[in-house]
Amino acid sequence: MPEEYSKYHRHPAKPVRTLQHAANDGQIIAVNCSLCRRHINYLASDLVQVLNPARPVDAPPFACSRCGKADYMSVKVKTPSAGDYGHLVIRRLLGVRSVWEWGNRPLGDEVKPDAGRKRN
Ligand SMILES: [Zn+2]
Repeated sequence: MPEEYSKYHRHPAKPVRTLQHAANDGQIIAVNCSLCRRHINYLASDLVQVLNPARPVDAPPFACSRCGKADYMSVKVKTPSAGDYGHLVIRRLLGVRSVWEWGNRPLGDEVKPDAGRKRN
């Protein structure tokens, strides 16, 4: 995923709040797509497992899963309130799926770890 933060302008004196900061504080990353109006809540502590923890917390974590665009996404960082527990729906990281990749290579050829990315 390209990590271009240059479009998120900040006052130079204001320190960048990172995803790791939000994870440490148990915060929710509420992502809104204004193009298709999809709204998803993530836990910052889930996102730091799959994204760079040093990324700015207000950078959209993913492109919209419905319309595929990231240009219309906005991010709000929330601290859960007592009433959110048991009610607020969060898109949780349920697991990581790994896939074995196989390919035909001549005997004696060195197999590099990323060789499976080529489809053949
Ligand atoms: Zn969308």
